[in-house]
Amino acid sequence: MQRFDVIVVGLGGIGSAAAFHLASRGARVLGLDRFPIAHDRGSSHGQTRLIRLAYFEHPDYVPLLRRAYALWHDLEARTGEPLLVESGLLMAGPGDGPVITGALASAAAHGLDVERLTAREACNRWPVFALPGSWEAVHERQAGYLFVERCVAAHAAAAERAGATLETAVQVHGWRTDGDGVIVTTDRGEWAADRLVLAPGPWAAGLLQLPALGLSVLRKSLFWYRPAAAASPSLAAGACPCFAFDAPAGFFYGFPSIDARGVKIAEHSGGRPVADPLNVDRTVDAAEEHAIESVIASHLPTLGSSRADHAVCLYTMSPDHHFVVGLHPDHDRVAIAAGFSGHGFKFASVMGEALADLALTASTPLPLGFLSPRRFC
Ligand SMILES: Cc1cc2nc3c(=O)[nH]c(=O)nc-3n(C[C@H](O)[C@H](O)[C@H](O)COP(=O)(O)OP(=O)(O)OC[C@H]3O[C@@H](n4cnc5c(N)ncnc54)[C@H](O)[C@@H]3O)c2cc1C
Repeated sequence: MQRFDVIVVGLGGIGSAAAFHLASRGARVLGLDRFPIAHDRGSSHGQTRLIRLAYFEHPDYVPLLRRAYALWHDLEARTGEPLLVESGLLMAGPGDGPVITGALASAAAHGLDVERLTAREACNRWPVFALPGSWEAVHERQAGYLFVERCVAAHAAAAERAGATLETAVQVHGWRTDGDGVIVTTDRGEWAADRLVLAPGPWAAGLLQLPALGLSVLRKSLFWYRPAAAASPSLAAGACPCFAFDAPAGFFYGFPSIDARGVKIAEHSGGRPVADPLNVDRTVDAAEEHAIESVIASHLPTLGSSRADHAVCLYTMSPDHHFVVGLHPDHDRVAIAAGFSGHGFKFASVMGEALADLALTASTPLPLGFLSPRRFC
């Protein structure tokens, strides 16, 4: 049986980054995935992902985000690929709602450069937006988006250049500890390693051997709308920032038009439970489409409703909607990364670094104790 220093199970957003950081430190790495690199069956596809620093979910994420930005820019420099666009982000909603208060709290705690605007000031600056007069807005200039598939492919390519062996079309059945190592069982036989990193995205519940985590999977839809010619320039990347609306009907967000598909918009709240992530309905849901088009009519009226594309993607929710990252509570040779709860991609670069630390040294200087799996086990 072939033996490696570290096996990484899952080469999506998080696992591809872990494989890169491990291999670049000289570890002999085997990465395994069922699907091709940058596929569209898991959680890391659909053109773009928001990245932002004024993190309304919790200020403790901000130091990790600062490191994530630095590592994305480092990956761009290594690969020559543009990956991150700092387009700005306009967050809008009730002044006492979780998005505005949370973003301002993170900004205050960490001295972040954000601008607080009235709804009227925001609409005057970006006339594509229509916001109720009672709302407030926060503009974060350094926020923007990552090209999601490009990021996964860049980490995987950089991992291979650093010496990692990446095998796709391999279905991992399970794993067990064995003496001073770990054995991974697959449909192509068994592989052994000193350490294991598990980054299986929506398939985590079946692979982590930790039912106490209580992970669940939600089906989420992305919609693209092609603006009419007259509205195109003001909705294009460069003119229009990313946007997030804490609206009465839910939390909606989107991106300026960056290619012929136009403006991408999606709902972060809601979502249908998924029993089997290998068997997902990927057709357009009329109720979801109606909700998106209502938001467009209310807040982006010049965009119109000429739908150009649609995709389905999966969130893996933890019970408290915060990530689950750390050493496996029962096996200190195993590091786990799961439950990214629909907001994890922007962290993939720093999670790769943290997982490499955990696998190689059983600890990390990165401040991620608040994400430990032990809070559930
Ligand atoms: C619609 C949508 C919008 C989002 N928007 C944002 C955003 O704007 N900003 C943000 O930061 N985050 C966002 N997220 C969340 C973010 O994309 C995810 O948190 C992140 O991509 C999760 O990466 P992952 O590596 O855990 O999962 P994945 O990328 O799905 O990777 C898991 C990999 O493990 C492999 N695997 C699993 N089990 C096995 C097995 N048994 N054998 C072999 N291979 C296996 C899978 O094939 C897959 O490649 C969004 C997610 C979705 C779905």
